[in-house]
Amino acid sequence: MSEAKRPERAIVVGGGLSGLVAALRLSQGGVEVTLVEPDRIGGKLQTSAFAGRLVDEGADAFLLRVPWAAALAHDLELDGELISPAERSAHVFVGGERRTIPHGHVMGVPADLDALAASGLLSPEGLARVAEDLHLPADPTDPHEAGTDVAVGPYLRRRLGDEVVDHLIDPLLGGINAGDTATMSLAAVVPQLDAAARSGDPSLLRSCRAQLARAAAPGRNPSAGSGAVVAAIDEPAEAPPIFAAPMGGMARFVDALVGAIPSVDVVAGRSVAVLEPGPGGRGVRAVLDDGTAIDADAAIVTTPAHVTGPLLAAVAPDAAATFLGIDHSSVAMLTMAFARADLGDTTGHSGCLVPRDQGLLVTATSYGTSKWAQLRDPERDDVILRTSVGRTGDLRFTDLDDTELADEVVADLDRILGVTGAPTEVRIGRWMRSLPQYAPGHLERIAAAEAELAPTSVRVAGMALRGVGIPACVRAAEEAVASLGVTWPTRRGLAPA
Ligand SMILES: Cc1cc2nc3c(=O)[nH]c(=O)nc-3n(C[C@H](O)[C@H](O)[C@H](O)COP(=O)(O)OP(=O)(O)OC[C@H]3O[C@@H](n4cnc5c(N)ncnc54)[C@H](O)[C@@H]3O)c2cc1C
Repeated sequence: MSEAKRPERAIVVGGGLSGLVAALRLSQGGVEVTLVEPDRIGGKLQTSAFAGRLVDEGADAFLLRVPWAAALAHDLELDGELISPAERSAHVFVGGERRTIPHGHVMGVPADLDALAASGLLSPEGLARVAEDLHLPADPTDPHEAGTDVAVGPYLRRRLGDEVVDHLIDPLLGGINAGDTATMSLAAVVPQLDAAARSGDPSLLRSCRAQLARAAAPGRNPSAGSGAVVAAIDEPAEAPPIFAAPMGGMARFVDALVGAIPSVDVVAGRSVAVLEPGPGGRGVRAVLDDGTAIDADAAIVTTPAHVTGPLLAAVAPDAAATFLGIDHSSVAMLTMAFARADLGDTTGHSGCLVPRDQGLLVTATSYGTSKWAQLRDPERDDVILRTSVGRTGDLRFTDLDDTELADEVVADLDRILGVTGAPTEVRIGRWMRSLPQYAPGHLERIAAAEAELAPTSVRVAGMALRGVGIPACVRAAEEAVASLGVTWPTRRGLAPA
């Protein structure tokens, strides 16, 4: 497959956020685009009617402190529709009680030991073990010493002990991508902690304190440049909002993107079965599942990694193996409405995380009507919860049918919040193999895959690259387009290639 020099025609494989952004930027750059999507346009961004409101089925907020999603919203003229969560504090369920996550942490690594002690999250022994970090020497396997990427869990357990990892760090990080810190790449999933680990000071607490102090300095944007995760460095309540979403839910993003690409030929209800060199070895040919062939100068593949892998086999075999080698977690999201009188108090907090060792099926529940003002309906006086189950190492939910699953989740919610009446409405979404897991060395493997693809006319974008969240996907799609030599005008001027 020959190298694409500013393609005239391009194929976009997949019509989720990444594919739509790629199609938008390509068509704004004057490229003729065909987009192929077998299922629902929007992919994992779906919003539908629930209990008389529009409630997201999957993602419901994007990180504001990295620029890419906010800039896209600006380009799509959605700025005026963005709102931020009404509540910032969150609970974690430990020892049969909901406890407020203390202020002063970097991705769960506590910088303020007094706040941690006051939260009641850890036993005195657990607290003392965290404080040992201040004196523990470096280990040859630490990132700073070894030079290579490491797994989050073993490194943090060595420095801070098990309890804080089990009760705070694993639920926070695992809540983002349904992963297990035991096998999660520090550099790819939590670049903030990777930077702290490489600061030269073996103490993670001191490095995180320094990071928080720098972030608090006027004019600093603490996590700019890192789009890997959908959570943030903790900060005080008066600071600018961390997350945002369009008022009508994530479907507004999808609708605005679709509205902005009228010239794109959308092939709906079909999937790409094979990618191969185009006629005469020039460009690329996409063969669809019905045998139709589409020829173009270039292709951008935005499918989940387990689909991307086989699609790349004839183009870049090593890159294909890299994408095929990425594990995926499966989750289910249960949206439930309860009469307010039938549920414990959810006010003042946005939701509750559940550590693995608490023995529940539920991994987290988001208090929808506390978190989002637009979901409150005084006439109904109800509470909407969005509850997740499933994470790496715990796929028990896949053995349950919808009725069993809903019953188990209500039983768990009873333990977490107190439930005295049945939900008035239930919606269940199963997101199978939906969240790619970045193992140690992930960023190096992705860089090698991109290097193998660079001389070809095929590019990859999506959740498998450098972040599973919305901003990172926007960034990856735009970078894929730019790497084909295409530039596009934005409301701020011409985008940098
Ligand atoms: C439950 C859940 C909650 C989330 N919450 C958040 C959140 O709150 N904030 C946040 O920032 N991110 C969140 N995310 C992540 C966010 O949803 C993703 O970053 C984003 O939607 C990914 O978009 P994408 O286009 O890369 O992938 P997808 O949306 O997966 O799109 C890929 C598309 O490719 C299509 N496809 C598959 N096979 C083929 C084929 N052979 N040919 C053509 N097309 C094909 C699929 O049908 C799909 O539409 C969440 C994800 C999940 C699963």
